[in-house]
Order: sequence, then structure tokens, then C-alpha cells
Amino acid sequence: MLIVHAAPEMAPFVKVGGLGDVVGSLPAAQAAAGHDVIVLLPGYRPALRAAAAVAGPLTGPRDRVDVPWLGGVLSGNVLEVEDRGVRVVFLHQPELHDRDGVYGPPGGGEYGDNGLRFGWFAAAALAWLRERGLTPAALLLHDWPAAPIATLLRGHPTWNDPLRGVPTALVIHNLAHQGVFPLGLLRELGVPDLFLDTDGAEALGNANFLKGGIRHATVVITVSPTYAREIVWPGFGEGLERDLLARGDDLVGILNGLDVRTWDPARDPWLPVPYDATRPAGKAAAKEALQHALGFRVDPSLPLFGVVSRLVHQKGIDLVAEVAPWLVRESAQLVVLGSGDPALAEPLRGLAATWRQSVAVIERFDEGMAHRIYGGADFFLMPSRFEPCGLGQMIALRYGTLPVVRRTGGLADTVIDVLDHPETGNGLVFEHADPGGLRWACERALELFRTRPELLAAARRRGMLADLSWARSAARYEEVLRRAAAREQASLTA
Ligand code: ADP
Repeated sequence: MLIVHAAPEMAPFVKVGGLGDVVGSLPAAQAAAGHDVIVLLPGYRPALRAAAAVAGPLTGPRDRVDVPWLGGVLSGNVLEVEDRGVRVVFLHQPELHDRDGVYGPPGGGEYGDNGLRFGWFAAAALAWLRERGLTPAALLLHDWPAAPIATLLRGHPTWNDPLRGVPTALVIHNLAHQGVFPLGLLRELGVPDLFLDTDGAEALGNANFLKGGIRHATVVITVSPTYAREIVWPGFGEGLERDLLARGDDLVGILNGLDVRTWDPARDPWLPVPYDATRPAGKAAAKEALQHALGFRVDPSLPLFGVVSRLVHQKGIDLVAEVAPWLVRESAQLVVLGSGDPALAEPLRGLAATWRQSVAVIERFDEGMAHRIYGGADFFLMPSRFEPCGLGQMIALRYGTLPVVRRTGGLADTVIDVLDHPETGNGLVFEHADPGGLRWACERALELFRTRPELLAAARRRGMLADLSWARSAARYEEVLRRAAAREQASLTA
């Protein structure tokens, strides 16, 4: 299958958030499964620099693509690198891309012409495919910057368009960013009004790039099955719940994988002794080293809870702060590593000042400390209010650290409560996003730790043995893409 991704980010070349990680992993897993895979990216200056540094000189500096643009043509350069079996193609338009930022200047904010920048990218992606005579078996469009491709494709094709009938899958990583611009922009790109009404890309008088994708893509994919079910409800769908609901069975969730090479307790330079499910002894050494590093009492019998998170309301850090005094009274230890809103860490900071031997708050982004917490903690707290997929709980599972999570989004899809399901459980799960809910789950964690050591060990082992790899996700993507292709074929022949 020729699979083409269009995306605004791809690790290690250009990464702002989790989308960059997914596009850094999924295409390579698809290539490893035997597919031809191309990733199309805007040729922002920082991305081109990183690509040259990581993957060697870019080829094709004199290659060009002529993009139909606002009644004329706006050409761009085409530069390529090969990365883990994936052909990575940068579509570079100097006026739009020769700047230091991705979505906005490095200091923050957004570029005022992002509608044009990503509108051009969408048009350029299709122009490049047509010019090169490539007919993908599927086009994967990541988030709002690539979403207009679905709208353009639905709105454009004539009977002889080579891309007519190519199935598109809009992959939603973050519903909060939708790409809202003046409606005239899509009209000028040649999208007929038919596709720009409230059942199309129009929302509240503007063009909403993401909404257009939701309405016009063959299928819509979110990064976990439970999140796909949740976002059709008001309050979860960021205003697009009706559009998502209208997609019915064409809205599916596929769990992200984990980069199991980076996250591997058997080969983690930050841990004192390697361990895995067959050699679990190193886990105790990791806990001892963490207790020591944090200035905690070094004692294996004291349960150690860890948090590694952005400090934002979504992640329920305030709930952790509410439950923390109770944890201290129960002789538990707590380490919170987080960066973001300092106000959310305030109550924890006070507690850490008083209880130096049992509470630590580290307010920075610290890769090494994150690894040591995943390795050294007994339990990993993730009381998110919503969670499209979540990586933290998957890393914790792999490190034999029991996730304590709220039943939402990707957390609900990866963690099974071990007290409710002793044969299959791998963590602890609670329902209510309030301090009582989290405390209830922590009480159960303590019960498990203190009175059910064998069950705890079995749950740890199950987590470490779970298949969290991208290969699994890639197989599921293939299934969904084949279904989408069949659907487009059926509508062509109808
Ligand atoms: P989100 O992408 O919403 O922040 P995820 O759980 O999907 O949440 O991914 C978060 C990732 O960022 C994890 O790999 C986690 O270990 C890492 N992370 C978050 N905060 C920090 C921090 N302060 N220091 C180091 N790593 C962090």
C-alpha cells in the first residue's frame, strides 16, 4: 500500500507536541510492515535545518511544485530525506516558511497568516501528488493544518482527477486547535460553496479547517477508542460534537503506540540496574535510588507515588494536591515532576517544605528525572479530566509501575483495575474527577501494596509484558484504511 501522511510535525525534525511523536513513529512502523510510506511536511526553516542535521543533506533542492493559488500559481521547493524507510518530503515556500517558528514566533503567539501558510501546504500536497503521478492507497491528514486536504479533495475533483476516490483519514490529536480563518480563503482556493456550508467547513461564519476535515474525510480517527466515543458529547467535543456525532461509525479510535526503545527499563541509562518482567529485581534498586535522590526515607515498605505531567487543569494536578496531605498521613511518599502553571503546584510546594522526607515537587522539564520516577515509583498517578490517549500511563505500565487513573479516554483503554479484575488487571481505575475519587483509588492502591503483594507483583508483570508497540497500532490503522478505501471505491462505482 502507498500510504501518504500530511502533517505539520514529525519527530525528530519538527516537534511541538504529541502529534510530532505520533508522526515520528507511525509512518516508520507502517514502512516496517512493508508499506511504501511518504510524509509530507511544510518546509519550515527549523524543520529543514533539523532534517539536514539528523538525516544528512536534503536531496532535490531544485525540484519544484507549482501550486494553483488564489487564481494564479504560487510555486514551492521540494526537498527530501529518507528516514527509517520513510520518504520525508518538505514542501517549502520561502515567503511562508523562512521564519524561525512553526506555528508562531519562538516567543509565543501565532503567525497572522497561518490560514495562508497551511492552506498553501494543503494545496501543495495535492499538487505534488498530481504532478508526480502518485495515487496513494490512503491519505492520512494530521490535525487542522492538514485537514483542508480532505475539503479540497472533496470539493475539487473532476471526473479525470487522478486523486478522485483516494480515501482520506483525518487523525485528530487535539480538538482544542481547529484552525479558524476567514471563509473567503477556502473559496479562493477553489472549494465550491457546496462544501463550505454548516455541513461542511463553515462554522459561525468562518472557515474551520478541522471541521471541514471532520465533515469531508472518508474516516475520522482519534488516538484512542474511548476518546472517540466521548467527544460526541457536549463538553468533550470542543464545539464540534455534532459534526463528530454525524460521522457515526466512521469515527474510530486507534490507540497510539509507545516508543518501546526509548522507554525500556532493560536499557534505560537513567536506572541503576536494568530490569524487565523476567528480571524484576532492578525495580527495587530503582526505588531505592529515587528515594535517595529525593532525600526521602529510604525504605522499601513505604509506598511511593509519582506524577510526571504538564501542570494544567486537564491533568488533575489540583486533585493530587488535595489528596497529598492524606497520603502523607498514611506514610506514603509522593514526587511530582511537572512544568506549566506554577499556581497548580503551589499547595504541593508548601507540603514539600514541611514533609521533606515524603513529598517532593520538581518544577521543570527533566527527562532524566522522568525516567527515574517511572522506574522508581510503585504507583503513577494520572487523574486526568480528559485524555485523548496519554503516554504517561503506558510508560508506567512498561516500567512495572501501577497507573492510578481516571476512567477516561486512552486511560480507560489501557488500564484495568486489578482489584476488580484480579486475572487481567494492571492498575487502579476511578470514575469521578474529584478529590474523593482519587483518594478512593489511592486507598485501594495502599490496600494492594500492604496486603496483596502477590496480586501487586502479577499486575506489575502484566503491565511490563503488554504489547504497547507501534506495530500493533499500525496494524489497526491498516484495517481502518482498507475499510475507507473500500468505501471510496463503492461510492465511485455507485
Ligand atoms: P500530554 O501530551 O497531554 O502532555 P502525555 O501523557 O500524552 O500527555 O505525554 C506526556 C509526555 O511528556 C510523557 O512522555 C511525560 O513523561 C512527558 N513529560 C511531561 N511533563 C514532563 C516533565 N516535567 N519532565 C519530563 N517529562 C515530562
